[in-house]
Amino acid sequence: MLQELKNYLLFLKDYGYTEIPQQIELNLSPPKKTSKTHTSPSKQNNPDLLQAVQDELGDCTRCKLSEGRNKIVFGSGNPNADLVFVGEGPGKDEDEQGFPFVGRAGKKLTEIIEKGMGLNREQDTYICNIVKCRPPGNRDPEAEEISACKPFLLKQLEVIRPKVIVALGKPASSTLLGRSVPITKERGTWHEFEGIKLMLTFHPAYLLRFYTVENRKAVHEDMKKVLEVLGK
Ligand code: SF4
Repeated sequence: MLQELKNYLLFLKDYGYTEIPQQIELNLSPPKKTSKTHTSPSKQNNPDLLQAVQDELGDCTRCKLSEGRNKIVFGSGNPNADLVFVGEGPGKDEDEQGFPFVGRAGKKLTEIIEKGMGLNREQDTYICNIVKCRPPGNRDPEAEEISACKPFLLKQLEVIRPKVIVALGKPASSTLLGRSVPITKERGTWHEFEGIKLMLTFHPAYLLRFYTVENRKAVHEDMKKVLEVLGK
C-alpha cells in the first residue's frame, strides 16, 4: 500500500500536479479488482473465442505489411477485460517480441495504466492495434492495410465486449469512428463504437514526443473519465 502511494505521488508529480487531486481515494482505497475474479458467465468462453480469431488470422498475408514483419502482434491481456486499448500498429520491439506496447511507448502506457489508473495491465486490460504487422519505418498504416486488418480488430472487440474502449491516437480513433479525427481537438471526448463507450486520447508515443505537462495532464484527465465509467 505504501509503495502504491509512493508510485502514485511520483506519477502525479511527473504529470505536473502540485497538489493531490480528490480522486486519490478512488485510486488507492479499494484492493485492486481483477477481472479474472469477476468473469461473467457470458464471457467465460472468451479465451477460446479469441484464440479462434487468432487461428483464423493465421500466418496472414492479406496485406503487404506481411512482407517485412518478423512477428504478428495479435494482442495481449485479459480476454474478459472491461477495458481495451487500441493502438496504431507494432513498432520495432513489438515486431521482434510479438506483443503489443512493449517498447518505450509501451512502458509509458503501462505507467499510465498501473501508476495513473491503479489497474493491473495484464489482468484488467486487453491491448491490441488496428494493424497487426509493423509498418516499415513506423510509418502510419495505409488505408488498404487498415481495411485488410480491421475485420480482425472488430472480431476481437466483439468477443471481448469491454465496457470501455480507449483509442490511442489519430489512426486508431479514425479507424474506429470511420472518419478523420482531429485528435488534439477531440481527445477527452466520449463516443460510441458498436454500443461500447469509446474514449479518445493521445498515443503514448505522441506523449513522449511532446512531453509537456499540459499533454500529460490531458491524458490523466481522460483516464480519470474512463475510471469513472468503469466504476473504479
Ligand atoms: S497487417 Fe493484418 S492484414 Fe496485414 S498482413 Fe498483418 S495481420 Fe494480415
